[in-house]
Amino acid sequence: MRIGVLGAGQLGRMLALAGYPLAKTFVFYDMSGSPSAGLGEVMIDRDGQYLDDFISRVDRVTYEFEHLPLDIAEKIAASKPVHPSPRALQICQNREAEKSLFGELGIPTPEWKIADSAESLQAAAEALGCPVVAKTNTEGYDGKGQAVLQSPEEAAEAWNSINHPRLIVEKFVEFRREISIIAVRSESGELAFYPMAENIHHQGILRYSVAPAPGLERHVEDDARRYIKALMNELDYIGVLTLELFETADGLVANEMAPRVHNSGHWTIEGAMTSQFENHIRAVSGHPLGSVEPREVSCMVNIIGEHGDIRRILELPYARLHLYNKGERPGRKLGHVNILADSYKELVWRVRNCTQFLPGSPEFTASLTSKG
Ligand code: AMP
Repeated sequence: MRIGVLGAGQLGRMLALAGYPLAKTFVFYDMSGSPSAGLGEVMIDRDGQYLDDFISRVDRVTYEFEHLPLDIAEKIAASKPVHPSPRALQICQNREAEKSLFGELGIPTPEWKIADSAESLQAAAEALGCPVVAKTNTEGYDGKGQAVLQSPEEAAEAWNSINHPRLIVEKFVEFRREISIIAVRSESGELAFYPMAENIHHQGILRYSVAPAPGLERHVEDDARRYIKALMNELDYIGVLTLELFETADGLVANEMAPRVHNSGHWTIEGAMTSQFENHIRAVSGHPLGSVEPREVSCMVNIIGEHGDIRRILELPYARLHLYNKGERPGRKLGHVNILADSYKELVWRVRNCTQFLPGSPEFTASLTSKG
């Protein structure tokens, strides 16, 4: 079976790496002009001239990137199965549509309003009460296109700096920590939920994911499962879906979802019986799902901006290194290290030992550590 992947970054690369043992082959369709998947067949097509050729070469299509033109996904879906469906893509491209769907399904969100001018941004900040977070309604990722307003008077400056015609303005959530749930749904409607991960961001970029999230109460995980299940059923979803949440004193608040494998699930490559990548390929291919049980406790450490001392990391017996074959650039995701341990205490020690070889790593302060 030939799987077509829209997008050709590291997520596509890891999908292919998981699909080869199942005898899948891959054709990547890249509209950015700078693919980094580095394996499979890569078609670079900046303006859609070769889309028919791509469609004719694949049996099923999925994506690893949600900021692509919806009409491309819809056109493909007219002749080949596209999983997840273009409707899932459409909703995940638009924060307003996403938050509205969360609301309809009873999934709590921060209070929010739409702003389409500096004046309406100021009015939204006044109505919601500061601090608020203003975000571009479309196209945002890794904290880009966002500003926190400490007072409504900051609206004009924030409006100019974000420079986008439509913003979503959210009340700032005083969270204990950020957590995510990754679930997978097969063609037959079978569902599996990975243990949730605790995610630590620095300057808007994910740096560490610890899974299973330490100290997570059963009822909180049950809520997250209920929310993601409602989304998957509503969207008739096939594949991996990620839901990012804030854990607060009053329960969970949803931030956003991603219709794909996710950075907070990279720990599953060695940390779970079946990785998120393999399960996505299984689901998209119409196969049964694999076990999502964790093997031990895991921490995924992102390699951001510069590679650090790769040689020393390779010497650590408990570290599994994944490199994306990308050039160094500030803020760029270049790879990750998965660390497993048989206790959280050992995990913290191992993560700290590893990050001394990764310059620029923020201090590891998960809820596991005294500073968390
Ligand atoms: P996003 O692009 O929506 O995932 O936001 C990036 C990061 O900004 C999140 O991971 C949070 O750390 C922070 N953030 C986003 N929205 C809020 C909010 N409403 N309240 C507090 N922090 C937020």
